[in-house]
Amino acid sequence: MRKFTEDTLLVATHNAGKLEEISNLLAPYGVRVVGAADKGLGEPDETETTFVGNARIKAHAAAKATGLPALSDDSGIEIDALNGAPGVYTADWAETETGRDFVMAMSKTHDKLVQSGTAQPWTARFCCTLVLAWPDGHDEVFAGTVEGWVVWPMRGREGHGYDPIFQPVGYEITFGEMDRWEKNRISHRADAFNKLVKRCFG
Ligand code: IMP
Repeated sequence: MRKFTEDTLLVATHNAGKLEEISNLLAPYGVRVVGAADKGLGEPDETETTFVGNARIKAHAAAKATGLPALSDDSGIEIDALNGAPGVYTADWAETETGRDFVMAMSKTHDKLVQSGTAQPWTARFCCTLVLAWPDGHDEVFAGTVEGWVVWPMRGREGHGYDPIFQPVGYEITFGEMDRWEKNRISHRADAFNKLVKRCFG
């Protein structure tokens, strides 16, 4: 297991919500965090069919392009009644000609659940795979999850993406209603991060 010993980490994402969460999660470790957009990086095509495959593409492309260690996150929501969909295609369900529309994506998700005829509760989990890659090609991989349910209607304005329709186990509120500190304590990204920090930043 390789330790992170550099002072700057490139976070290989163009997603402002993810960048903010990752910066907050790394704040206690005194690491300088820069985003992919700050370095003028493009977004590589995510051509793999697994979270780890796509996370590896993003981390290695960014590390190679910048000469910095790069951390990527590939994540999504798996809904049991939809046989694990949208999964790695979570962001794709939000695509429109003018950018991503998550209200539309959440409505689409609800429509598909109703069409599936599956009774509630609609069990689901957010999954996150983090890849820390170095310019020499070495990488470390960490996966995290948080279990919960898809609920309807959407609730809350906090967070990003599908947060307003995801209620984690043990809570009466959605991620969209939860303050970010609480979400950052229990989320799929926090789960993967705890493993990363323990192994590479400890
Ligand atoms: P990708 O990892 O960039 O391919 O996109 C993953 C997609 O999953 C994001 O665009 C979000 O829609 C969704 N997602 C991942 N993590 C979260 C989260 O913490 N809250 C809400 N949606 C999330």
